[in-house]
Amino acid sequence: MTKITERLTGHTLLISLIATPIRHSMSPTMHNESFKKLGLDYAYLAFEVGNKELKDAVQGIRALGIRGSNVSMPNKQAIIPYLDELSPVAKLVGAVNTVVNKDGKGHLVGHVTDGTGAVRALAEEGVDIKDQIITLTGCGGAGTAIAIQTALDGAKELRIFNIKDATFANGEETVKKINEHTKCKATLTDLADQAAFKQSIAESSIYIDATGVGMKPLENEKLIDDPAVIRPDLVVFDVVYSPRETKLLKFAKEHGAKKAINGLGMMIYQGAEAFKLFTGEDMPVDHVKSVLFDE
Ligand code: NAD
Repeated sequence: MTKITERLTGHTLLISLIATPIRHSMSPTMHNESFKKLGLDYAYLAFEVGNKELKDAVQGIRALGIRGSNVSMPNKQAIIPYLDELSPVAKLVGAVNTVVNKDGKGHLVGHVTDGTGAVRALAEEGVDIKDQIITLTGCGGAGTAIAIQTALDGAKELRIFNIKDATFANGEETVKKINEHTKCKATLTDLADQAAFKQSIAESSIYIDATGVGMKPLENEKLIDDPAVIRPDLVVFDVVYSPRETKLLKFAKEHGAKKAINGLGMMIYQGAEAFKLFTGEDMPVDHVKSVLFDE
């Protein structure tokens, strides 16, 4: 790999991000800052692509030799039929957020790094999911990735709670896959059963909210209202990172939870895992944090 110069050259390799809406994304900054820091001759650009343009966009990745792409809403599931291969985890999750164009030759492999990103973010906070009982709300894209990854990484029990909306069937499918393919015991319960939900958290060491409740337009809401649910040995993890402190995390802190962790770490580490797949190099995470979050 050549060292990057002050400008892009004819040799520069492109990584894309295809999603809509996407202009708000921190991923281009995260990856371009990392390329610059490590002297890698890559560039990362966001493209406003929805389901309608997706097939052509994937052909474009092949035709132009784009080395890889991140994929976000609404394309995470829709891209699967256009790819040549899926990683075992992407197959289980049924979604892709990272595509690697092997050697730029057009063979596209789909991966999902949201779950590993979440597990790494928890580990960074000193939280080991192995042998733990975890209560999880949400079985959409983020919830499914977290459920599958924590089960694969050795969680003992996963108790998923979801409202009876269109994603509930997806949760049933996820529970089935986990029980069939991992040693983790998974269950799915209607979130309307509040007694079961509270009982589950009482028996869990980690509660993960992967619903997006706490983010706009639900920024004033949270799924736990009873302070008795929060204990000094309970870790509370909310996948939302905007705002940094959701109503749930504020409530957890106020009532003495062991830890209240937001989704920033998950966001960074899903990017770091993708970066590794694109370049073979470790993302300079501390540098990225200092640039993005002034930490
Ligand atoms: P999704 O639409 O696929 O799933 C949303 C889930 O939340 C579903 O299970 C749905 O039933 C549930 N839900 C929605 N409204 C609810 C309510 N009022 N009460 C209870 N449950 C409700 O969305 P997603 O892609 O899984 O994203 C969910 C959240 O995760 C978003 O806020 C997204 O920004 C965040 N996210 C964060 C990261 C990260 O890196 N930190 C990565 C991916 C997603």
